[in-house]
Amino acid sequence: MSEIFTNSPEGEGGSPPTTEDVLAALSGARVLLADRDVEGAASAAARALLAQGAAWVHTVGSPQDFVEAGQRPPDSGADWDVAVWDTGLSGSDDALTAFLLQWHTRHPHVPVVVTEETPNTRRGGAVLRGRAADMVERHDRDGLVAAVARALHERPDPAEAAEPRSRVHMLVVGAHPDDVEIGAGGTIHRRADEGWDVTILTLSRGAGGGDPDERREEALRAATAMGARLVMEDLPDGSIADDSHTVRTIERTVADTRPDVVLVHSDSDTHQDHRAVHRATLVASRRVPRVACYQSPSATVAYRPNRFVGLREGDLDAKLSAINEHHSQAASRWYLEEDLLRSTARYWGRFSQARYAEPLEVIRDATPLGFFPADHV
Ligand SMILES: [Zn+2]
Repeated sequence: MSEIFTNSPEGEGGSPPTTEDVLAALSGARVLLADRDVEGAASAAARALLAQGAAWVHTVGSPQDFVEAGQRPPDSGADWDVAVWDTGLSGSDDALTAFLLQWHTRHPHVPVVVTEETPNTRRGGAVLRGRAADMVERHDRDGLVAAVARALHERPDPAEAAEPRSRVHMLVVGAHPDDVEIGAGGTIHRRADEGWDVTILTLSRGAGGGDPDERREEALRAATAMGARLVMEDLPDGSIADDSHTVRTIERTVADTRPDVVLVHSDSDTHQDHRAVHRATLVASRRVPRVACYQSPSATVAYRPNRFVGLREGDLDAKLSAINEHHSQAASRWYLEEDLLRSTARYWGRFSQARYAEPLEVIRDATPLGFFPADHV
């Protein structure tokens, strides 16, 4: 169950691609497919892909054959369109990530769909770090066909890639009402003020800290103060899990907003909900080019920021106004005291070129080194 509150006009958006659009991307594709069982699982997967229009599926059963075939696509002058990799061939999570990154370096325009015997968020993290397009259950043929078609559909068209979207989209994910205000309220206000489209996704209504209806109203007023749109879900406060339900819940808003940047809690946090939301968001944001973590009051000393967003007085004022909207929490929460919030922003300012700043711990940044586009978070 979810409710969507909006306080900004809907973007031009356009309708999402239909299943037919996505499947059409598979038509004529040349697929390189690796599976530990070349005779069985690999050939069954190949038949499923050919039945949906793939032109060519080359199956291999070892890393060496995969790498060699990668260098010899079926027609000279063009690379493979997409690759499928069975995690059973690469061993540990670290080995999987290293293998995928090696592939990405050699074939940056050939997305990889990973097949996994028992998909889980830990494996998902390794796949994400390896910059693969997607992960599906190894024997799920329909899932594989859909993931391969989606990876092909979402491959950036060089002509379209040159045409920038008119507005940058940022999605900020938090477990409870007031989390994103405290962690990134100034950044949200600054970017919204600069013309970014900012969506806040709050995954619970904070029933553990007060009346959910009252907290929902407070969250909506706070989002308005920062210039953002609010989407509120209803996961259980205090026992949010990093399971597939949470991942799918976040994926809905990711699909809706197609963010360029995602901000979320850090994994270095004493609150179990924050850690779960961090992990589930990393999986749900696996195709988002820039992902970073804000600082919550419950962050541990292991939180290690490496980017600092400078704030103007007005950004800090908007952050404090947004936090002040959470009246129901003000009396009982030490971390909502204004002098602490102000001095924390002042402290982080020493790492930026501004008087005040908010820290971020960058998880992934697909921006080329030395290149700082205007839309950088
Ligand atoms: Zn929280």
